[in-house]
Amino acid sequence: MSRMLDALQPRDLELGPARGAPVEGNWRSAIDENRVRWLVLDRPGRSVNTADRAVLEELATHVMRAEAERPAALVIRSAKPSGFAAGADINQFKGASKAEIEAAMREAHSVLDRLEALSFPTIAVIHGHCLGAGLEFALACRHRIATPDASLGFPEVMLGLHPGLGGTYRSTMVADPIEAMTMMLTGRPARAKKAKAIGLVDAVVEERHVAAAVAAYAKGEGRKAESGGFKARAFSLRPARAFAASQMRRTAAEKAPKDHYPAPYRLIDLWEAHGGNAKAMQAAEIESFATLIETPTAQNLVRVFFLRETMKGLKDGSSGVSHVHVIGAGAMGGDIAAWAAREGFRVTLADLDPKALGRAVKAATTMLEKTLRNPLKVRDALDRLVPDLDGVGVAHADLVIEAVPEKAALKTSIYAAVEPKLKPGAILATNTSALPLESLAEGLSDPSRFVGLHFFNPVSRMQLVEIVSHPAASSETLRRATAFAAEINRLPAPVASAPGFLVNRSLTPYMAEALAMVDEGIPKERIDEAATRFGMPMGPVELADQVGLDIALDVATSLRERLGPDALPEAPEWLKRLVAEKKLGRKTRAGLYEYDADNKPKKGKVEALKDGAKSDPDLTDRLILPMLNAVVACLREGVVADEAVADGAMIFGTGFAPFRGGPIHYARTRGVDEIVATMRRLESRLGPRFRPDEGWERLKG
Ligand code: NAD
Repeated sequence: MSRMLDALQPRDLELGPARGAPVEGNWRSAIDENRVRWLVLDRPGRSVNTADRAVLEELATHVMRAEAERPAALVIRSAKPSGFAAGADINQFKGASKAEIEAAMREAHSVLDRLEALSFPTIAVIHGHCLGAGLEFALACRHRIATPDASLGFPEVMLGLHPGLGGTYRSTMVADPIEAMTMMLTGRPARAKKAKAIGLVDAVVEERHVAAAVAAYAKGEGRKAESGGFKARAFSLRPARAFAASQMRRTAAEKAPKDHYPAPYRLIDLWEAHGGNAKAMQAAEIESFATLIETPTAQNLVRVFFLRETMKGLKDGSSGVSHVHVIGAGAMGGDIAAWAAREGFRVTLADLDPKALGRAVKAATTMLEKTLRNPLKVRDALDRLVPDLDGVGVAHADLVIEAVPEKAALKTSIYAAVEPKLKPGAILATNTSALPLESLAEGLSDPSRFVGLHFFNPVSRMQLVEIVSHPAASSETLRRATAFAAEINRLPAPVASAPGFLVNRSLTPYMAEALAMVDEGIPKERIDEAATRFGMPMGPVELADQVGLDIALDVATSLRERLGPDALPEAPEWLKRLVAEKKLGRKTRAGLYEYDADNKPKKGKVEALKDGAKSDPDLTDRLILPMLNAVVACLREGVVADEAVADGAMIFGTGFAPFRGGPIHYARTRGVDEIVATMRRLESRLGPRFRPDEGWERLKG
């Protein structure tokens, strides 16, 4: 649990005399013996500071007071151990109109302009997270001192926005403009050391040296970052910016198409047109930010932000788990074990095959190095992950997760051996993708403690975990399983044990329809392009190859058996042949696509294709509507309880176009009647698999 304990450790932050000062509104303020005024953000009742109208209005009062008082210097920092500030309060962006936002932004800008214009040194001291509006506060100060754990960033692009409180011009003027633009375009934060290297902060000092550093800057003796200013001057000429901007546009286009994600392109335009001219950039920033906030993309991404919060909020109390035992060190078990160890849990990992354990530890090391980027943390996580060939961990674990191959008889034989050894109160979980939990539970003496924890591949990137219930599972088991998923920093979605649960039930028709289209002779590339143009992260043909054609065929066949032949198209004969020939997709470097030396699919250019499907307007609907139809069926059947969790699960489990706000939100926005009419038309053209589910009627209300 070291990560959790780290976060809870009270840090001894240097707050000057403001430590003892009362919180007035959201800030503490006091002056020290050197006439340095300390202004400390400490929002009551919150573990993290965010910026909203009240915080800014109070800051305005403090700045006015400082104008009159003329202290030797003004220090701004946070009293929260978690960091400086997490950014703007996103609630403000929900349903906001352009006019309201523009007015609020003008006021906010005037406060930061006054802060920037103070005639004495102003110093932001930054620890932990310093994001979005938090970083923009810091940029309005003359100096920025960071502690080594600081992480500075502009995450606005993830909400379909760019910085709006002066970040676009202050960052590109104090720091290396290309680096600052990259931070704003990608949303990727910079750690303290990097922030110093690019000129975003002037100094990095240990917490215990903060007071001395503040005193030096107050006397005008601190060092100023240099790299930024020089590079900023180099890009003060428009042709230099134009050249860099065209490169940025190309990179942005590879990551996010302009039609779906306008914010990065607006930011590039803004900088290209006005870079180096603060006043012009300020006016353009306000206008552009306020325009963006009204776009469906920004509103939907704000919705996604809250969907994530809703799913995190499903955690009710603690899981009571500290030791996890994982059975099966294959693709999934190895990954689940490594992730739980990364998140602070003690993990034992068992397999029949010692080679599988060796491979799992190797893969864990790679994943941990990539995601933690800190050798000490990697070492600690690996210390917590213990290969356990003899399975002795079972008897000590609070949670046992089975991740052996998808064969019911194998799984139940393992439960028969494991259950008698379980500690009282331990949970037994399965990572099955499709087997009915109620039949897996049949031989258990206590099925109330059995639950599905359905992770997605790869665990380190896919945030969703389906918490699969069945009639005999106790509510306490479900509560604890949900809490565990949240404790390992994944997003839980409670679902019922129905065929394919929610995500596979909905994703399979999308892949199966793509294979039916391939069978009709439609080029694979065109099918994939129809899906990615809609906003899916990967086309269904490529996805089938990635999942593995054997697994895709298995899941589709078993779903069709359980849901009936009308639910899905029949798998084409050539697919079965490919599987028999062990052409299984990416893992065998051959499947529906051929693979190059980097294991990337060899795809032809869509523009060059000469095929009859080119002008078929139904191409995208044929892929997307069956997926929506399945989500609607899951809601009607109670496989998933509500629309928010259904939308969140599809976004975090399949990558469903986030800028569309989730499948149900998309359906509502597009119009339920229109979707139902399109499905009826497709049904008469292509067959009963397009029959609209009865659940659409309920969505009409
Ligand atoms: P895998 O074949 O990669 O790994 C299974 C491991 O279990 C192997 O290392 C094998 O040696 C081991 N094993 C077999 N019998 C065992 C026994 N009696 N005791 C201990 N270990 C034993 O399989 P996988 O892809 O990791 O899938 C595991 C489970 O996860 C399946 O139920 C699968 O449906 C589910 N799942 C898979 C994915 C995926 O994308 N691969 C995604 C979600 C869920």
